[in-house]
Amino acid sequence: MDKVREPARKLAGLVPYDPKYLPARAMMSANENPKDVDEDLRRQVESAVRRVPLNRYPDPLANELRDLIACANGLDREQVLVGNGGDELLFNTALAWGGPGRTFLNLPPTFSVYEANARLTNTDVLNIPRLREQDFAIDEAAVLDAVSGPDSQVDFTIIATPNNPTGLRARTEFLGELLASTDALVVADEAYFEFSRQTMRPYLDANKNLVILRTFSKAFSLAGVRVGYILGHPDVIRQYMKVRQPYSVDAVSQAIGRVIFQNRAAFEPGIEAIIEERERILKELSAMPGVHPYPSDANWVLFEVPEAEQVWQRLFDAGVLVRDFSTAAGLEGTLRVSVGTKEQDDLFLDELKKARGIS
Ligand code: PMP
Repeated sequence: MDKVREPARKLAGLVPYDPKYLPARAMMSANENPKDVDEDLRRQVESAVRRVPLNRYPDPLANELRDLIACANGLDREQVLVGNGGDELLFNTALAWGGPGRTFLNLPPTFSVYEANARLTNTDVLNIPRLREQDFAIDEAAVLDAVSGPDSQVDFTIIATPNNPTGLRARTEFLGELLASTDALVVADEAYFEFSRQTMRPYLDANKNLVILRTFSKAFSLAGVRVGYILGHPDVIRQYMKVRQPYSVDAVSQAIGRVIFQNRAAFEPGIEAIIEERERILKELSAMPGVHPYPSDANWVLFEVPEAEQVWQRLFDAGVLVRDFSTAAGLEGTLRVSVGTKEQDDLFLDELKKARGIS
C-alpha cells in the first residue's frame, strides 16, 4: 500500500517534542549539570554495570533503588515509584488522572510536556497564565479560585517548582493552601529543587493529594541515563503502577542510579558552584543595557534581549548553544541560558556582550 490511514485525530495539532539540541562548544540549552560524573564514581558505575545480568528482565519496580530513595526521604518503599526519567512519570500522571471528560490545570508558560501529555490523553486543559509583570509568579488567587468550590472541574495539576523555563519556585505556603483547598491531585515537579533548596516533602504526610516528582538528570549529572522518581501516598503510587510500562527502568539504569544515589553527597560542591554561578550571571546580565534577566531559583537564567533570535544565532555561531524561547507563547523575546562551568559562563557573557555591541 502506498498510503496509510490518518492517525488518531488528537495528533493533528501536535508537533513532536524538539529540544533543539545542536552540537556546540558550550552546551547551555538543556539545564543539564555541566560536569559529568567524575572518574572515581565512573569506576564504581562501571563495576556495578559489569555485574548486571543482561539476559534477565530487570526488577520491574527497581526495588533496591526504591528503598534507597525511600530511606533518604524518611518514607516506605510503597511511597516511592521510579520511572524512566521524570518524563515517564509525567506521562503516567496524565494516563492515571487525565482522560476524556477530565481536566488538567496548567500554569503556562511552563514545561511544555505537561500540556502535550494532556492532549495525548484527550484531557481538557484549563490554562491560568503566570504573571509576566511579576517575574512569572503564579496567579495564586485565580488558581485557588479554579480548584476550590463544588463546581471545580480540575482533576489534577502539575506545578514546576522552580518553574521551567521561567525560574522562580512556587511559594511553599501557597502550595500548602492549594493542597488544603482541593482534592485534585497536585504534582509538585521538583526536578530542580536541589538548586532552590526548597521541597514540599514536609507536606507529604498530611496530604494524600500531593505527589513530588524528582529526577537524577540535573543535580546528579545523569540526564543520559533516564532515572526519575515520585514520592506520594501508597494508594496514589498504586494507581501509577497500573499505567506504567512494566520494565521501563532498565537494569543498567537501575545499577547506575543506585551508585549515584548512594554517592549523592559528592554532587553537593557542584550544586553550590552552580548556585554561585547563577547569581553571577544574573548580576552580569542585569548590568547589560537592554538585557532583562528574570530572577531564578534554578540552574538557568531566562532573559529578555532585543532581537533575541539574532542574538541566539550570534551566540550559536560563537559556539554557545542557549535555548531560544523568543517566539514561544508568553515568552516572547526571551532566551534561556543554563548555568555552565565558570569557563562556559564567561564565554557566554563575553559573546553576549559582543552581540550587544558592549566591549
Ligand atoms: N520536569 C521539568 C520541569 C523538566 O524541565 C524536566 C526536564 N526537562 C523534567 C521534569 C524531566 O526530566 P527527566 O525526564 O530528564 O527526568
